[in-house]
Amino acid sequence: MVLNTIRDADLTGKKVLIRVDFNVPLKDGVVKDDTRIRAALPTIEYILSQKGTSLVVMSHFGRPKGKKNPEFSMAPIGKRFAELLGKPVKVAPDVIGPEVEKEVKALKAGEVLLLENVRFYPDEEANNPEYAKALASYGDIYVNDAFGTAHRAHASTEGVAHFLPSYAGFLIEKEVKFMAPLLENPAHPFVAIIGGAKVSSKIGVLQSLLKTCDTMVIGGGMAYTFLSVQGHKVGKSLVESDYLDTARDFLKAAADKKVNVILPVDHIAAEAFDENAAPVAVDAVDIPDNLMGMDVGPKTIALIKDAVAKAQSVVWNGPLGVFEFDSFAKGTLDIAKAVADCKGTTVVGGGDSVAAVNKFGLADKLSHVSTGGGASLEFLQGLPLPGIVALQK
Ligand code: ADP
Ligand code: MG
Repeated sequence: MVLNTIRDADLTGKKVLIRVDFNVPLKDGVVKDDTRIRAALPTIEYILSQKGTSLVVMSHFGRPKGKKNPEFSMAPIGKRFAELLGKPVKVAPDVIGPEVEKEVKALKAGEVLLLENVRFYPDEEANNPEYAKALASYGDIYVNDAFGTAHRAHASTEGVAHFLPSYAGFLIEKEVKFMAPLLENPAHPFVAIIGGAKVSSKIGVLQSLLKTCDTMVIGGGMAYTFLSVQGHKVGKSLVESDYLDTARDFLKAAADKKVNVILPVDHIAAEAFDENAAPVAVDAVDIPDNLMGMDVGPKTIALIKDAVAKAQSVVWNGPLGVFEFDSFAKGTLDIAKAVADCKGTTVVGGGDSVAAVNKFGLADKLSHVSTGGGASLEFLQGLPLPGIVALQK
């Protein structure tokens, strides 16, 4: 997958329309976590460093449900953006309309205008071509750097690309650079570690990665559905009865492809799904009737570590246990450390897995930590992301 990126564009003298993900947490009108704004700065600074460029910036914020609602105004975000950028940022009074058009027209080289929340209009999520066309009229070229919304075909993420030459910013470029090879031509041995709560939400990723991986680790709550089709006792563990056939078919497909599947061989269990439940070590695959599996045990951790240590590429999506509860976080922590120590290319995607990596302070030791939960999940399933399709060469 090859994208048109801003490195390919001649930006000189251009008015650039950029879609970013400034959907940040606010508290009392102040940005509480500016990670996403900082993440967009390299692209924005690069564009502004080119001769004669000006910038019209657009993002969504929260869920204003297609209505103008001051609670979801971009104004406080614009304030923090200006501080981080070290130059003034005008916040437009609206997304579309004559006043905004006037401000865009008045924009001089080096200046930055932040539009109001694109979701103030239902046309954004409906991907109304008229709305997209109005947005597109603000720029000579379009840059998308919002990976987190790239799986949505919205006006500001997909629609505008029909009207303007379109390029990926550095964030999207990096996401694709690290994730596309996992589906196309990963360095081998390639180890996929998939955990999380549900088979139903991860089966697409399992099936897609089965095509390229050498070892597939299945952990987290979904492991018990697989163990149960293998005839093991899983006690009170999470089992999705609707997915038993799917799990059976998957294991058969993996065996046919000679993919090494690692399922838990021991567990940390509990009598109830409770933060204060006493952890019980179960040193066997089978789990007693009164217990539920909450985390992988030490033998399983050793098996996974061994595979990861030899890997040339690793992708990890989904915690291996209920890591939110301290007593059941060890499996996820130890695997996060093992992935961080791996010499190969290491990619982590998924909302909770990324939260775990950040919680453990290991993000810097990975090749790539994806910025989009839902988007990375769809990407790893091999689904076309509308916002990225629009940027392909
Ligand atoms: P991600 O957001 O990284 O894609 P998921 O949303 O699929 O991950 O799964 C994360 C959730 O899975 C966590 O809330 C975690 O508590 C839960 N989980 C992990 N292991 C178990 C388990 N053994 N039993 C129940 N839930 C589990
Ligand atoms: Mg999640």
